[in-house]
Amino acid sequence: MESGTKNRLRLWLRSERAFGLSAVPLPRKTQLDRIGGIATPRHPVQPDAETARHADERTIDRQAQNVPPSDLYGRVAAPTEMAPRGGLIAPPADEPFIAPLLSRDDKVARLAVLDEREVRGCTRCRLNEGRSNTVFGEGDPDAKIFFIGEGPGENEDLQGRPFVGRAGEMLNKWIAAMGLRREQVYIANIVKCRPPNNRVPMPDEVATCTPYLERQLEIIRPRVIVTLGLPSLKYMTGDPKLAMGRSRGHWRDWRGIKLMPTFHPAYVLRQYTDETRAAVWSDLQQVMKEVGLPLPGGTKKNNSN
Ligand code: URA
Repeated sequence: MESGTKNRLRLWLRSERAFGLSAVPLPRKTQLDRIGGIATPRHPVQPDAETARHADERTIDRQAQNVPPSDLYGRVAAPTEMAPRGGLIAPPADEPFIAPLLSRDDKVARLAVLDEREVRGCTRCRLNEGRSNTVFGEGDPDAKIFFIGEGPGENEDLQGRPFVGRAGEMLNKWIAAMGLRREQVYIANIVKCRPPNNRVPMPDEVATCTPYLERQLEIIRPRVIVTLGLPSLKYMTGDPKLAMGRSRGHWRDWRGIKLMPTFHPAYVLRQYTDETRAAVWSDLQQVMKEVGLPLPGGTKKNNSN
């Protein structure tokens, strides 16, 4: 085996062991190919119509910066090439997590280590250049519901916290409507740094940053993931062709965790119609039912534990 491939495998093993695993299944040939050379992210995310209309919170600047991305090993990718997924190999989306569930204390400790030792100082992609703060994510480490947005905007960048602007106010209302407080769910984004002028994160930026998100998900192991808007849905499903209208409201599976796609709060702010709001509420009620929260009107709990 080529020594570069060996090194990458060693790193991968180390990251898996960090989750308490003593043995790691050998990667499939396709995965070996991926770490051995061709740098292709599992889930490329392209800007889409819904995201492009996030104009109130996210003024789109489509001028790509002229800085080539580099991966964990310092390799510089050609502009059209995707950077590898932070150099780590993640199992495919249909492979459930095999690491043991962690105690709350362990989760807190591991999340803190991930944030403080890796995310805060991260310079793995060009987004670090313009940031004031990284936005790791926040919430209950034992949360049953994990919301995934797109990327920090201006307010989030300044405060280092996710969803604290206008879209955040809308998300807070949704969470309250579910009978929860914000501290009882977990909220994060597919990228941890604000894209310049709030443009949509580029595929290589998503590819480089999302191993952090996947590790958060692996540590927290929520019952349900709610993707907010198309970019996070496309990343989580690996399907760049999805349309929000057809996808929202339909359960999917991500590594053994149920995933509910819904609209981005910023989209709902712009399309503040009865129809859009009813769609989101219907999606959230499905989530409530799944995690055993009481539904308005006294519908019986379905799945509490
Ligand atoms: N929009 C997002 O997608 N994430 C945030 O954190 C804020 C706004």
